[in-house]
Amino acid sequence: MPARILDGRAAAADQRNSISAAVAHHTTHHGPIRLCSLLVGSDEAGLLYAKSQHHRCLQVGIQHELLQFDNSIGERQLLAEIDRLNANPLTTGIMLHMPLPEHIDAARAQYRIDPYKDVEGVSPANIGWLFYGEPIIAPCTALAAIELIKRSGLELRGAEAVVVGQSRIVGRPLSLYLNMQMATVTSCHIATRDLAAHTRNADLLIVAVGKPHLIGPDHVKPGAVVIDVGINKITIKDDAGNESRKTVGDVDFDAVAPIAGAITPVPGGVGPLTVMMLMRNVAEAARKQLDRKL
Ligand code: NAD
Repeated sequence: MPARILDGRAAAADQRNSISAAVAHHTTHHGPIRLCSLLVGSDEAGLLYAKSQHHRCLQVGIQHELLQFDNSIGERQLLAEIDRLNANPLTTGIMLHMPLPEHIDAARAQYRIDPYKDVEGVSPANIGWLFYGEPIIAPCTALAAIELIKRSGLELRGAEAVVVGQSRIVGRPLSLYLNMQMATVTSCHIATRDLAAHTRNADLLIVAVGKPHLIGPDHVKPGAVVIDVGINKITIKDDAGNESRKTVGDVDFDAVAPIAGAITPVPGGVGPLTVMMLMRNVAEAARKQLDRKL
């Protein structure tokens, strides 16, 4: 039987109503919720992402302000901008678009964001709280993957879970979460010797690497839940030799879908839900700022 498709767009649409309701409630009782995005440089992909964020914010009733800076902005000046937003009670959330120019230490800039305004959940403080199982705000992509795992219906307690990729904002937080849910977790990465030997045992396989078609049918246990976080642009040729660009994940979807129990497509899986999780985090940030513990 072909795999059930875990549809990220449908999951995002389901989340939208409750987020809009939470935003409307907060706006009525405590004032508007506002996200400020900081974009350094004129990277077209960054600008496109910022515009799509603007659109999403308006959809759920969140105000959005894009602050653009020239590539020549110094680290001190950027940190001062972050300080200004941290101190402004009208700014609920701060999002710092990556990549930053080389002369700016990205980790230092992220660290500067108030953990209660760090709506991407990437500051060291928020990653640290995650370790204690009490995140103020958790990383959006990991949250999106978790939502889709929940929708798969898989019982995590006692399940064999394999996470391929160990980045700070995706692979590692997901491994930690699954560990806390009492799954037996294996973390695979670039130095893993025999990837398929591990992934073939997985009831739940999460892949966050950035290599198109890294995972094929030989890597997957029949009936497994497969969550593909990867986003890769590849060039394909049609029969007439015309080239075009296509977005694919890290999993060879067509080959794996007939074997898996449930699978996320790319595009249309983790990606669209990640943007909605950012909106949920902004609403959460507003609520948590009313009752700060730090
Ligand atoms: P990263 O680039 O920081 O790290 C990649 C990880 O993959 C590393 O831990 C590395 O050890 C591992 N790796 C590399 N080659 C490997 C191999 N051959 N076998 C096993 N492991 C290998 O990762 P990231 O920032 O988490 O991004 C991973 C992918 O997820 C990218 O395609 C990125 O575009 C995508 N992504 C998607 C979303 C979303 O919203 N859907 C968000 C963030 C990242």
